Amino acid sequence: MHTKTLSELSSLLQSRQISATELARLFLDRIHQSDLNAFLHVDDTLTLQQARAADEKIAKGEAGKLTGIPIAHKDIFVTTGWRSTAASKMLANYTSPFDATVVEKLREAGMVTLGKLNCDEFAMGSSNENSCFGPVKNPWDKTAVPGGSSGGSAAAVAARLAPAATGTDTGGSIRQPSSLCGVTGIKPTYGRVSRYGMIAYASSLDQGGPIAKTAEDCALLLTAMSGFDQRDSTSIEKEPEDFARNLDKPLSGIKIGVPREYFGEGLDADVEKAIRQALADYEKLGAVLVDISLPNTAMCIPAYYVIAPAEASSNLSRFDGVRYGFRAGNHTDLQDMYRKTRTEGFGEEVKRRIMMGTYVLSHGYYDAYYIHAQKIRRLIAGDFRQAFSQCDVIMGPVSPTVAWPIGEKADDPVANYLGDIYTLSTNLAGLPGMSIPCGFVQGNSAPLPVGLQLTGNYFDEARLLNIAHQYQQATDWHQRTPGQ
Ligand code: GLN
Repeated sequence: MHTKTLSELSSLLQSRQISATELARLFLDRIHQSDLNAFLHVDDTLTLQQARAADEKIAKGEAGKLTGIPIAHKDIFVTTGWRSTAASKMLANYTSPFDATVVEKLREAGMVTLGKLNCDEFAMGSSNENSCFGPVKNPWDKTAVPGGSSGGSAAAVAARLAPAATGTDTGGSIRQPSSLCGVTGIKPTYGRVSRYGMIAYASSLDQGGPIAKTAEDCALLLTAMSGFDQRDSTSIEKEPEDFARNLDKPLSGIKIGVPREYFGEGLDADVEKAIRQALADYEKLGAVLVDISLPNTAMCIPAYYVIAPAEASSNLSRFDGVRYGFRAGNHTDLQDMYRKTRTEGFGEEVKRRIMMGTYVLSHGYYDAYYIHAQKIRRLIAGDFRQAFSQCDVIMGPVSPTVAWPIGEKADDPVANYLGDIYTLSTNLAGLPGMSIPCGFVQGNSAPLPVGLQLTGNYFDEARLLNIAHQYQQATDWHQRTPGQ
């Protein structure tokens, strides 16, 4: 039962072969037995209450496609029932007075919340080692990282602790952990999914999205999650869409752009082989490969690691010991209280970024760093504009390597930043991007999943999902399940 897709679970629920309560119980039991550290807060009573309400809806014939299906939320989305911590000591005991729009929309669709998922502190990281609640283990090899920052989300879906999860992606945090854990995730076009109630990291880049087993499941979830929200000033005003509408379209004639810059130095040879094989499989499905160039790719790292910390330093100024969460004891005056609260409440990586961000925004450095990074951001968006005049979708690796051992890069922030080379540009440009499983490569002690990245033009999610779905109809990488 725990390996079934959302559509399969949906039919079982509608035909009363299983109840929402039974389904919730089954996943809660799996969560309680797991040692991956993927969940930060589970509350059986709350979950089962929601499941019973879903069963009533089904009994009355008022159910929608997602009614009664369990989902878990990255602990960046605030929730009224479960604690909302952003994996930070700063919010370790914080409960929100309201639900994030995404949480609210999925609840309205009848989904049942399984709990809150571990992640990097304030979504800063690529390995989930920056959580104040400890790292998440990769279900394919428990000595390896699951990726980050949505590491708990990807690990939970891969280990079948939840049929689906939410994630957030500021520079790759949906795609990269999906890739490293062998699951499917989509980061929509910036503005598609409301950021209201998503604890802010870098507001011009942050975007929520689903992580699930298949592109079809992601399409169902994105349809329920997205839509205009007047409480988010950057939410896009567009008619609601059914993202599953194009899933069955054949791919004949579709042009896949293959960026030269994504196959250069730093890319693991075996990962490259898996990606090239996936591209060859797409050719068999009728696609045509087009050689393209994204010349400013390498500059995405410095540009992102100026802009994201700059915005983070501003967003995180609200954590002052007065308004939310943690307050240090033993202070002498107000300044001392601020200082001690922020010193004790934030982890190392978060402090590093607040310092970088404050530096690049300070008088005298603003033009040299921040403005410069914004100019690069524009050039990167221009590269994609040019590329999409030659192709329909861009494909390449998500990550230069498969998952690495926990601890290996923990003391080397720059090594982590460099691994983001293929994902950051998508956020800088505001484009939609996906990761789908496309093979395995031998890691340190086990074969580990490889993800193929699909980047689409603005608002082209339905086509991206179609392209991913067609590949999943022809391959079975997405069905592989780690042994527990
Ligand atoms: N790894 C990137 C960072 O640490 C991206 C994180 C994210 O997308 N939230 O900023």
